[in-house]
Formats: sequence, structure tokens, C-alpha cells
Amino acid sequence: MVSESRYMNVGFSSFLTALLATMVSACGGPALRLPERPPVSSATAIVGANLWDGTGRAPVANAVTLVRGDRILCAGSAGECPVPQGARVIDARGRYLIPGLIDSHVHLLFMVNGSAGEELTLDLRDLLAQGVTTVRDMGSDPAALLSRVGAQPAAPRVYTMQLVAGRRFFFNGLRGVETARGTIYRQPPALTMQRLGWRPILFTADEDPDQIVADARDAGAMGLKLYAHLDSLAVTRLTEAAHRAGMPVWGHAWVQPTSVLEQARAGQDGVVHAAGLAGELYSVEERSKLVNDGDLQTATAKVASAGSAHDPRVVAALDYMARNGTFLEPTLDAVRHSVAYFDSRLRRVPSEQEDYARAASQFGIEVAREAIRRGVRISAGSDHVAFGPARDRATLFGELQLLVDSIPLSPTAALLAATRDAALAIGGEPARQVGTIQAGRYADLVLLGKNPLERIENLESVEWVMRGGRLWRPGQLRSGIAMR
Ligand SMILES: [Zn+2]
Repeated sequence: MVSESRYMNVGFSSFLTALLATMVSACGGPALRLPERPPVSSATAIVGANLWDGTGRAPVANAVTLVRGDRILCAGSAGECPVPQGARVIDARGRYLIPGLIDSHVHLLFMVNGSAGEELTLDLRDLLAQGVTTVRDMGSDPAALLSRVGAQPAAPRVYTMQLVAGRRFFFNGLRGVETARGTIYRQPPALTMQRLGWRPILFTADEDPDQIVADARDAGAMGLKLYAHLDSLAVTRLTEAAHRAGMPVWGHAWVQPTSVLEQARAGQDGVVHAAGLAGELYSVEERSKLVNDGDLQTATAKVASAGSAHDPRVVAALDYMARNGTFLEPTLDAVRHSVAYFDSRLRRVPSEQEDYARAASQFGIEVAREAIRRGVRISAGSDHVAFGPARDRATLFGELQLLVDSIPLSPTAALLAATRDAALAIGGEPARQVGTIQAGRYADLVLLGKNPLERIENLESVEWVMRGGRLWRPGQLRSGIAMR
């Protein structure tokens, strides 16, 4: 007779054990009692790290974070989270564990010589290698992007917003606009977007906003991004329809001709681009005329300065946003990249775009300062594009660096804008499932070699990234990758 302990030591497969048991009873002998398997936990325990969980609580030294499947089981002190027997242990002593980072403003789909194919794969892997485990795409073709991302094994979670714009965005004809530098011809902006493979939706006054929302949802979008040529009544109708369906609404600042104050009053959840608050410096009539003339960059360059950022009209919009919890995404790094681009070119006569970039840079930083001072909630979206030379792309890291160096936010406050608050800014599922290291949330984690709360630059010391319980090292993600 084989003893029970022998079974356990040998470790028969349950199939063999069951087979043996059947044979024994079939022979008429005493039924063999099946051995209990020793409890083996399928959990992973990350042990010894300094844990910053993004909830607002102080860092926990020598912490234990338990992960099972794609979820966090427990995160806290060793007393709060005992390591189960048999758990796989990852030694993280002396390192820093933070939630996976969230870039709440990216553009990933570019069909023309861009990231629709291989470049998209490289960009997604590079984002993950930087510790970015969630992104929100603020304009593309949601269905096309999601199907491409779904085929990628190594990618952040991607949530998409549906672009919506008014009639003039689609049908303004090829028009000449008189500027100080002569006549500039512009095609309808929608055409430029459609060439990239993006799919903005047209909304006009006689359409049903609930149908727009249904179309957006069918395309896989989680919310609406109101982009251009929508008046404040249209913004209000679209916002109410989206909210009825439980979907968030964000607006470009400004959604011509609708100012940021009008967008916030319409109940929008957030506004992108601090520099866009230059629209507040024009009257309703002036804004309508500017939309028709299509010369917004020149108009911004004319009024935006470090001083005008503190104009009572800008401040009134920010105060309204603060009172109503409307988020602002400053997108400072994208503007900085534009300025750096023009700095690298020596032109005697600056172009319209250069004037705009320089004005938007100063104005945007001052608006972001004023916003934070007045209590507006900030999300650290970068306006990263998966297109063009890597050095020209805005990054979440660059945005956080600017928030710390220019505003100045503390590294902790900046990190909250890229974790907990970015998740809240995106809303929907991400608000409940990512952004913090808490039991029940996705196991999206970054282990750093250096403390990011001391220096935000330490975000570059990524040792590994975990997304939904699956772990990668930056070297694995970038091996063979030559970013252009
Ligand atoms: Zn953008």
C-alpha cells in the first residue's frame, strides 16, 4: 500500500491520482482517500519596495504588493499584506513602486507614412517602456485604432475619444485668408485629418445629438472630444446627450467659437490646451469672425502673453472650472517642442506658426500656473503623437518635468496628475480600475531604481513595468527598436 505522504512527495498529477484511485476501488479494495494538495498560491508578491500608491497616502517603506492574475490583491505594509505560502516573490528592496503612468492625451493613428503599421507597434512598446500603462487617444478613428492596438501583445491600455466638429470644419472650400505675410490658402481641416486616417463626425443643428453619441459608442469611443466649429448651444446639446449615455465630454480650448467658460458652463468634463484660453480674450462677435477667417494662430499670437494669462476673463473661466471640477490638460510639452523646433531654425522673418508657438508657450505656462493656484484639477496629458522623429514627440515625462520646473508643482503633485487624477480625468472604466495601487484595480505597476518623489527625472530609472500582471523590462520592449 502506497502511503499518502509518498503521493504528496512524488507530486502525481491529479489525473494519475484519480486514475489510481479508480483502479484501487475497482479492485474492490478500500477506496483510497485522495491526498490534499498543499495550498500553492498563484499570487506574485513584490516585496521590499518603497510603495507610493497614488491614493494620496504617504509612501510605505518595505511594502508588500500582491498581484493575482491581472489584479492587485493587496498593497501595504508587511503586516497589512502577508505573503501567501507558495507565492512567487519579486525582490524589490530599495526600489520604488508606483502606479503605471497615464498619458491622458495622445494621438496614435497616422495612416500616411506613420504609425498605422510598424511605427504604431514601436510607439506602443516605447510608451510601455517609459512606464506608461494607460493612454487616451484624443482623436483618430477609434475603431481602426482599437483593432490595431488589440493585435499588439505589448501596449498600454488604449481608450479613445470620438472627434466631433461642425459644418465649416468639413465644408469651407479652399479659401484664401489675407495675413500680414500675404494670402494663405487653407483646405477644410477635416480633409487634413481624413488624410491621416482620422474620422471626425459632423454635427449640425438639425441633427440628433443622441445619435452622434450612439455612433461614437459603436466606433468604440468612450467619450466625445469636441473639436471645432460648434457654437455653445451645440456644445451644450452634445454634452447633455453624452452624459445621458454615461460618456465624458472634453473640448479643445477653445471649440471655435465656443469659449472655455461657455464649455465649462455647458457641463463639459475637461478642456485641453492651456494656450487655447487665448479665446477668452476675444468677444463673442470677434470669436465668430475669427472662426470665419480661419486665422486662429495669428489671433492667438496677437493677444497671448505672460501678462494676458492673468486677464480677468481668463481667470473667470478658470474659477468656473475650479468650482465645477472641470479638468484642464495644459499640454505644455507639445508647445515646448514647437518652440525648440523654431529655435533650431534661423529665420529672419518668423512664420505665423513660430509667432504662435512662442506666444502660446509663455501664455500657456502662465495659464497653467493661474489654474493650479485657483484649484483647477490638472491632468498631465502630453499631446504625444506616434508620428515623426522621436525627438519631436511630446512625452508624458516632458510634461511632468515642465509641471515641476515651470509651475512649479512638487514631484508628488505632478505624479498625481499622471496617475490618480489622470484616471479620474479620463473617467469611465479607468477612473475605477487604474491610476492607483489598490486592491481590485488592474495590476499596472512601475518599479523604479530611484525615488521619483525626490526628483521627477527619476522616472527615467524604470526597472520593469507591469501591465495587468504581465511584466516587461524596458530592454525587452526596446530591443531591436530603433526609434527614428
Ligand atoms: Zn491633441
